[in-house]
This record gives sequence, structure tokens and C-alpha cells, in this order.
Amino acid sequence: MEKRAELYSGKAKSVYETDEQDFLILEFRNDTSAFDGEKVDQLERKGMVNNKFNAFIMTKLKEAGVPTHFERLLSDQESLVKRMEMLPVECVVRNISAGSLCRRLGVAEGQELNPPTFELFLKNDALHDPMVNESLVETFGWATKEQLARAKELTYKVNDVLKKLFDDAGILLVDYKLEFGLFKGEVVLGDEFSPDGCRLWDKATRNKLDKDRFRQGLGGVVEAYEEVGRRLGIQFD
Ligand code: UDP
Repeated sequence: MEKRAELYSGKAKSVYETDEQDFLILEFRNDTSAFDGEKVDQLERKGMVNNKFNAFIMTKLKEAGVPTHFERLLSDQESLVKRMEMLPVECVVRNISAGSLCRRLGVAEGQELNPPTFELFLKNDALHDPMVNESLVETFGWATKEQLARAKELTYKVNDVLKKLFDDAGILLVDYKLEFGLFKGEVVLGDEFSPDGCRLWDKATRNKLDKDRFRQGLGGVVEAYEEVGRRLGIQFD
């Protein structure tokens, strides 16, 4: 597999073409950002940790029947993935109240949400990723009704699989964001699953083990990600 020109560079990952049309290389960088890119920093080891974290989670999801972008690890900070046409929406499931849900609805953080909630956001930094609904997604053609139904089904399936996986490691899966794309017409999970895009709390202490450590300036960001990985049995070195 030969790495070719850079196709796109996002806030934390870069995407490269390869000599195969259907595959791309994802490079997980140490860059981290929050608040639509207003707060940025470089965190030592973060690219490697998230790359390996994502590989582990995507493998578990594939075993459970969720189609994913992930093909294989190529190096510490690179993975080979399917070239997809991304749907410009973010799917968020919440098991416990936190973050924008609390700000938007004025509810206290830490309440169990039963049944878990499902929200959609349009990917648009300039508009601060506004919340949308299924009707808007369909009407504006961001995804078809069928694609959206499949993305929603897979998002809930991910919850079943990962809630248990983290629970067994003494960790609460509070909420998470997923992005999907189309690969040969099929809806496939893309982007990444790492502590950058979900909330994870220690079950006993409720300590935050995710990107909120960066957002809230709590420190020990990558150390917390590695602690989660260690409890899941991920080998980082
Ligand atoms: N999230 C994300 N990228 C975004 C927005 C949200 O990865 O652009 C994740 C976030 O880390 C959390 C979940 O989606 O795990 C729900 O985020 P929320 O709506 O509470 O927004 P936030 O408080 O992070 O702004």
C-alpha cells in the first residue's frame, strides 16, 4: 500500500490517498481542539493512542456485525480505511445527561437517560453544528430516509455493544458521536471512535476519562485515554 497525496486535513486527522482507489490512509495527529477549533493544543502520544483505540473499538464493532471503515493498522499513527462518501451529519446517543444536552435543556448533569436519547447535528463549524432532525436531513438531501434509518439502527447497535464493553472495564459510556459514510452504496461507520468523541466516566468515582479533561482544562488528557485503553486491554507500546 503506497501513501500518495494528502486529500484533506481536519482538526485532528489527515487523510491521504493511496495507490488503491477504494482505500485511504487516516493519520491520527497529536493536535487536539475543542469549541469548534477555538481551543487548540498538541498532546504528546494522542495520535498513537487514538489510532490504536479506534482500531480496537472498530474491530469489536465489526465482530458484532457493525460495518466499519477500518481495514488495518499501518503504523503507530496511521490506519488504512475505506474511501467513503461521508454523510454530513453527526449521530449522538446519550445514556447519561452531560454537555450540550444540559446546557440546552437546563437539566442536571449525571442523570440516567432511559431510554437513551438519539440526536442529529449538521456538520458545519461556521454554524456551530446546529441540531437538526430527520425531516430536515431528508428534505435537504444530507441523507435519504433509508440511509438515515440504517445509521440510526447502527448507532443504537453500537450502544448495545460498547456500553457493555466499557461497563465490564468499570467505565460508564455517557454519550458518543458517530459519523457514517457510504461505501459502494452501503452505510458504514466512519470517522473514529476514541475518547475524543465520547464521554467516559469512571463507574466508581465518576471521574472524567475523555476529552472533557481537555475542554475543561483538567489536565492528564492522554493519561486518561491510556487508562481507559489499559482497562480494555489495548496494547499501546
Ligand atoms: N461530540 C463530538 N464532536 C462534536 C460534537 C460532539 O465528538 O463536534 C461528542 C462529544 O464528545 C460528546 C457527544 O458528542 O461525547 C455529545 O456532545 P454534546 O452534544 O454534549 O456537545 P459538547 O458538550 O461536547 O459541545
